[in-house]
Amino acid sequence: SAIQIPSRLPLLLTHEGVLLPGSTMRTSVDSPRNMQLVRSRLLKGTSLRSTIIGVIPNTSDPTSDGDELPSLHRIGTAALAVQVVGSNWPKPHYTLLVTGLCRFQILQLLKEKPYPVAEVEQLDRLEQFTNQHKSEEELGELSEQFYKYAVQLVEMLDMSVPAVAKLRRLLDNLPREALPDILTSIIRTSNQEKLQILDAVRLEERFKMTIPLLVRQIEGLKLLQKTRKPKQDDDRRVVAIHPIRRINHIPSATEDEEEEEDHDDVVMLEKKIRTSSMSEQALKVCLKEIKRLKKMPQSMPEYALTRNYLELMVELPWNKSTKDRLEIRAARILLDNDHYAMEKLKKRVLEYLAVRQLKNNLKGPILCFVGPPGVGKTSVGRSIAKTLGREFHRIALGGVCDQSDIRGHRRTYVGSMPGRIINGLKTVGVNNPVFLLDEVDKLGKSLQGDPAAALLEVLDPEQNHNFTDHYLNVAFDLSQVLFIATANTTATIPPALLDRMEVIQVPGYTQEEKIEIAHRHLIPKQLEQHGLTPQQIQIPQVTTLDIITRYTREAGVRSLDRKLGAICRAVAVKVAEGQHKETKPDRAEAAEGEDCKEHITEDAKTESISDTADLALPPEMPILIDFHALKDILGPPMYEMEVSERLSQPGVAIGLAWTPLGGEIMFVEASRMDGEGQLTLTGQLGDVMKESAHLAISWLRSNAKRYQLTNASGSFDLLDNTDIHLHFPAGAVTKDGPSAGVTIVTCLASLFSGRLVCSDVAMTGEITLRGLVLPVGGIKDKVLAAHRAGLKRIIIPQRNEKDLEEIAVNIRQDLTFVMASCLDEVLNAAFDGGFSVKPRVERLNSKL
Ligand code: ADP
Repeated sequence: SAIQIPSRLPLLLTHEGVLLPGSTMRTSVDSPRNMQLVRSRLLKGTSLRSTIIGVIPNTSDPTSDGDELPSLHRIGTAALAVQVVGSNWPKPHYTLLVTGLCRFQILQLLKEKPYPVAEVEQLDRLEQFTNQHKSEEELGELSEQFYKYAVQLVEMLDMSVPAVAKLRRLLDNLPREALPDILTSIIRTSNQEKLQILDAVRLEERFKMTIPLLVRQIEGLKLLQKTRKPKQDDDRRVVAIHPIRRINHIPSATEDEEEEEDHDDVVMLEKKIRTSSMSEQALKVCLKEIKRLKKMPQSMPEYALTRNYLELMVELPWNKSTKDRLEIRAARILLDNDHYAMEKLKKRVLEYLAVRQLKNNLKGPILCFVGPPGVGKTSVGRSIAKTLGREFHRIALGGVCDQSDIRGHRRTYVGSMPGRIINGLKTVGVNNPVFLLDEVDKLGKSLQGDPAAALLEVLDPEQNHNFTDHYLNVAFDLSQVLFIATANTTATIPPALLDRMEVIQVPGYTQEEKIEIAHRHLIPKQLEQHGLTPQQIQIPQVTTLDIITRYTREAGVRSLDRKLGAICRAVAVKVAEGQHKETKPDRAEAAEGEDCKEHITEDAKTESISDTADLALPPEMPILIDFHALKDILGPPMYEMEVSERLSQPGVAIGLAWTPLGGEIMFVEASRMDGEGQLTLTGQLGDVMKESAHLAISWLRSNAKRYQLTNASGSFDLLDNTDIHLHFPAGAVTKDGPSAGVTIVTCLASLFSGRLVCSDVAMTGEITLRGLVLPVGGIKDKVLAAHRAGLKRIIIPQRNEKDLEEIAVNIRQDLTFVMASCLDEVLNAAFDGGFSVKPRVERLNSKL
């Protein structure tokens, strides 16, 4: 570490700082003297020696730098000029990079112009100097103490920064005498302090002077760490190791705090990405993105975008799944407990689960429950998740008309986000949930693409193991997800989508089933929701039946549920009022004793007997909901039976229709008037239904003679001078389908024959020109609707006989079924005493 400097040195006078041996400084040179030195000595010099100059800290005011050489500081630092950079802007100047070598003392000024040159004496880094001090006891102690402080200081800095680590190494490797100078130039010190250190030629003195500076810096750092969060600005004032940054270009502990924290976040994110179990492809993409993120300034909008993306990627359950606990017997019990009736659906679900248990491969079909609203499709889906012990997530598809809803937006969009599938996975946090795709029949279509097409990829077991969301842009394996779909009708599900699914029809409930569902499930649930107990309210079965028949007309149980809710609310008011009343006598009781309460309770009893509609029964007796109470709470009944009344004139028949809301009975009315043989159809009919009407007329015209049907003037040509008007009431509802054929024929036959159709007969079936009756769909719903409406005889196509098996025995027992294969049979069954001229009674009564 010994250095030998020349005895004559050109002198550079600096204003900006104090160069200490062992440190490096960049200084700007613009005074004429210094410029001259740089030009004629540094730029023209050829030997290494010529690059050594003496740097003298100039304490005088730089503006008063005239021709006169100011009085020079006695001690300076010999320095090696490492780099010279020249520039003409804004005025000619040089920037010098100098490294301090050792101290010197000016002995004699040799010349002043054009730049000062002096005869100097080297003060340290001399060979004998180094060895001489080693032996001194006190200095050893001092240097030891100094070393400890220095180590403490460095260890308070972030060792992960390379420059800090290097500094730590330097502390051990450098000779101890060099440390005070180096550390003084690194820590925050004023120029005045540095000057004092420069002047401290004796090593012992130098150590003594630097230790307090070190201690001050350590204390400052401690303070910084303590107060870091609340006061950033102050921190910067308290301590800043700016020199380190300026010289070595490293971020230090005093970096802007936010930046640092953010940096920490990014590092954490990277760690998370590396430890997450994402697919190899995803990992590659993420690492690339994080590399970009590190280089990006935070203010860029893309920063937040990329970060959100990476956070989503980390959060996704790439490899996290719940363990299936599947036991068919338990599943059966659970399904039975949660849902009454729906035997066919439960059977199919159990089959599905059994296959899953035997073969743990999910490439099974996707179940799609199709049925009217409120029949429990969604809640069965939830039960399936429960039996499997899986997470459940419902994705409502009704009204979705943009394919990015399913597949996400590309990340180039502002506000882009992943689709619902990926979002759902993020929400549940596992990769094998049960996803319920609710209302697949109500998917829309728009300019933004067809969401149904996007669903195809999701639902195809062959493809969905690498489903690519546009936002993620990498494949995600959906093969572990169990998809269940629900719909009200299959008619509006795109065929390709329907093809991927196994449709399970969930028909509506019968009245008896509804009563059971109400008492087993709905009423207990409503009571709990309203804070009532069975001791406070009683709903007998007749009341439930009343609600079902007179206040609701639906296939499911949703509005039944709502009505029960309304009853519970009304009762809750009464109970709350009763409690209020009760508390009053309680207080009175304290004053007046026992008999007072009895008296009041008796009073209340007599009151309730006198007025049943008033539900103010004493709270210790349950409030009984009877017909009067029902009327009071729900208002007058909404639906009444009007069947027999409607059939009091010829030209009316009852058909059975199927709607997405379940089966319905439908009246068909016909009238004739003078005219030119025109057929008018009203009631919003679709094309198929209109064709059925034409078919019916044609068949009747061709068979008019056989049945002795005549027009008003007695001719067998039914349309001669006659107009016919057919109307299907509930005119606001669009109707279509072939199944009204037999009803129209019956209705017209009644019109032309002047005979009444039996009031208790309903019918359904498609017709042909030859008079055959063809099978139709939705028999169970239609039969239930007829049963609900109080009809007794139902005419259905012969080939639909098999569908009757689905109907509960008690309902079948209430009804008489007529299987008809041709229109003769239909007409014979529809009119009392048959319809044929030559009566060939071929009525097929149900053998059930
Ligand atoms: P959907 O999805 O078919 O429109 P939901 O599944 O939402 O109908 O069912 C509506 C309500 O009816 C739910 O509270 C459900 O518990 C109840 N429910 C329907 N069917 C049954 C049933 N068979 N047993 C018990 N509760 C039922």
